Amino acid sequence: MSGVVNGGISFWYADDGIPAMRDPLDGDVSADVVIVGGGYTGLWTAYYLKKAVPFLRIVVLERKFCGYGASGRNGGWLYNGVAGRDRYAKLHGHEAAVRLQRAMNDTVDEVVRAADEEGIEADVHKGGVLEIACTPAQLARLNAFHAHELSYGEKDRELYGARETAERIRVADAVGSSWTPHGARVHPVKLVKGLAAAVEALGVTIHERTTVTEIRAKHAVTPYGTVRAPYVLRCTEGFTAGLKGQRRTWLPMNSSMIATEPLTDAQWETVGWEGRQALGDMAHVYMYAQRTADGRIALGGRGVPYRFGSRTDNDGRTQEATVEALRETLVRFFPALAGVRIEHAWSGVLGVPRDWCATVTLDRSTGIGWAGGYVGSGVATANLAARTLRDLVQRDSGQGGRTELTELPWVGHKVRRWEPEPLRWVGVRGLYAAYRSADRRELAEPGVGSSRLARVADRIAGRH
Ligand SMILES: Cc1cc2nc3c(=O)[nH]c(=O)nc-3n(C[C@H](O)[C@H](O)[C@H](O)COP(=O)(O)OP(=O)(O)OC[C@H]3O[C@@H](n4cnc5c(N)ncnc54)[C@H](O)[C@@H]3O)c2cc1C
Repeated sequence: MSGVVNGGISFWYADDGIPAMRDPLDGDVSADVVIVGGGYTGLWTAYYLKKAVPFLRIVVLERKFCGYGASGRNGGWLYNGVAGRDRYAKLHGHEAAVRLQRAMNDTVDEVVRAADEEGIEADVHKGGVLEIACTPAQLARLNAFHAHELSYGEKDRELYGARETAERIRVADAVGSSWTPHGARVHPVKLVKGLAAAVEALGVTIHERTTVTEIRAKHAVTPYGTVRAPYVLRCTEGFTAGLKGQRRTWLPMNSSMIATEPLTDAQWETVGWEGRQALGDMAHVYMYAQRTADGRIALGGRGVPYRFGSRTDNDGRTQEATVEALRETLVRFFPALAGVRIEHAWSGVLGVPRDWCATVTLDRSTGIGWAGGYVGSGVATANLAARTLRDLVQRDSGQGGRTELTELPWVGHKVRRWEPEPLRWVGVRGLYAAYRSADRRELAEPGVGSSRLARVADRIAGRH
């Protein structure tokens, strides 16, 4: 599509500027904790550990610059979703999963609080999350989803019919929606940049342009030297497959986004959306969107979901066909915006475990810890994971005991590895082809129920 800036990492960097990079590691050093990866997970972990134990020597090693990965490219939905909750309910009981859900609800507020305390101006607007149904099949899923969320103790969630939905946002063909207050819109890059600055101001050392080539007990190895520390924390999420020995750990799944030009007041009149809720839908290949602080719509969804051999992206460039598909979704939602210019398109990778369950772990025998596998809901989850890693390290080093966080059901969860190629590629491509065809069928034949094909695909993918 002509005139669209494609890549450049993300629109958020076009808006806020790519930062000057910090110095690489320069020779061997020792530390108390070394953190690999400077996204939300790594930076929040450094933040909470340093706040808890100010004398700790903490080093963050980042391959490019802090916020280069998904933390600098996401949709800015800071919300209470956590990948794998239902499976954790099956494995550890409903009450344990309710505790995890409550912790996630609180995490949304914790991120807002901590950002505020650190003076991070991240365009935060706590308008909750509104998820919309546009076909009878989607409505059936929405009703089931709503009831399911209530069963995890979300008493403050609300269900709206077509008229109440239209009072909030005018999405074409919307037949209903479900709203939770536990969500906020953020500017992802302002958040990650502010966080890196706050971490540095606390006395944490950050080395950028420093790729870790190997993680082993007490060592993070780079071409410029090795950092030795009793604790090595791997916070590389969608990039994990690039580390030695981790190729089949978490599958790097792509997600792509577009950002429109700023809309005029008259255009906003047609759209509504005064509440600036994070907006999603109930399609199998779902979309997510936010109304940005400068009056654009930033909207995302799946593009080409997975690249052969777990390759990751090239500075955020996405396929032309994906840009067009996202534009079509925008226009299907808001037909009056058919002529609106798309200014920017980009993509990023997120980490998907074989059983779609996010985890946080510290292996006490090696001192190696990790957190991730958030499957597209990591903006808040990374913060909960970071506070949990802090508690696990403190407990292991004798500075703390069990806490509410160390007892959550996602701690120490083990998952099997993904299949080798070409099975991985064939499987994920097939999965998303199934989801897309289910969505097409539901849109073309409004009377049809929720697709069996998608349910089968879910089962094969290990989602349920
Ligand atoms: C397009 C897109 C939209 C999304 N939208 C949302 C959303 O709206 N809401 C939501 O909750 N979640 C969303 N997500 C997911 C969310 O952004 C991520 O889960 C979260 O940012 C993960 O943070 P992280 O710090 O674990 O990983 P990352 O932010 O990916 O950080 C990992 C860092 O590790 C570095 N690194 C990798 N390998 C090495 C190495 N070998 N040595 C040193 N450093 C290394 C990378 O350069 C990177 O900076 C989205 C993701 C994408 C891609």
